[in-house]
Amino acid sequence: MRRKMVAGNWKMHGNLSENKQLLNAIVTSLDGLQGVEFLVCVPYLYLPSVQDTLQNTNIAWGAQNVSQYEKGPYTGEISASMLNDFECRYVIVGHSERRALFGEDSHTVAKKYQAAQRAGITPILCVGETLEQREAGTTEQVIEDQLAAVIKLTGVESLVSAIIAYEPVWAIGTGRTASPEQAQDTHSFIREGIEKQNANIANGLTILYGGSVKASNASELFDMPDIDGGLIGGASLVAVDFVAICRALHQ
Ligand code: PEP
Repeated sequence: MRRKMVAGNWKMHGNLSENKQLLNAIVTSLDGLQGVEFLVCVPYLYLPSVQDTLQNTNIAWGAQNVSQYEKGPYTGEISASMLNDFECRYVIVGHSERRALFGEDSHTVAKKYQAAQRAGITPILCVGETLEQREAGTTEQVIEDQLAAVIKLTGVESLVSAIIAYEPVWAIGTGRTASPEQAQDTHSFIREGIEKQNANIANGLTILYGGSVKASNASELFDMPDIDGGLIGGASLVAVDFVAICRALHQ
């Protein structure tokens, strides 16, 4: 089923006391809001305390990355079953920062997506083009290839229990947002591509937009027919901004 969701990606920010303050403010402000899912994806180390704070609230918690391996000699890695120990229901895979800065190619991303699903965790699969790729007119090809790597490994049916986040790399953390029309075009391209393979799955697929979403531009993005919510970086670290974005989707 197509759901509405606002997910925060804290990246490598925060500390125990800042997190507590941020979450307390968000929990209070979003209390009782129904029909939209709220999520924060936090650094691994903070999962136990975030779990503690968010237990019995309407805000879910998740991770920003997961190992493609189940267990073994993989120093520094965190497996999907470890995320399960902290009741993570979601994990981001294939964020452009992981692809660009940590060398994750689409096959590795597909393995991570598969590892999450095997553990019963919903992957939020990030796809998106760089500025050079957009200017070269290859946006659709890039996204098709990123999706194809996952579909080749896990089948189109796996998208039933996944979320896609379209995040144009040139809009992430830059203050430059895709226009609602640009974002809608790519979202509908993604949905139509999946529709050719399985119409039911395409109709039920949740596709989030990410890239400098702010309180001031959230509503116009969320009004687009194929945008089901947002993946929010910078603005998820400021309680009033994150809450305003959540409310924009809720309306
Ligand atoms: C992100 O990191 O996924 C993101 C969308 O960041 P920002 O909102 O800061 O552009």
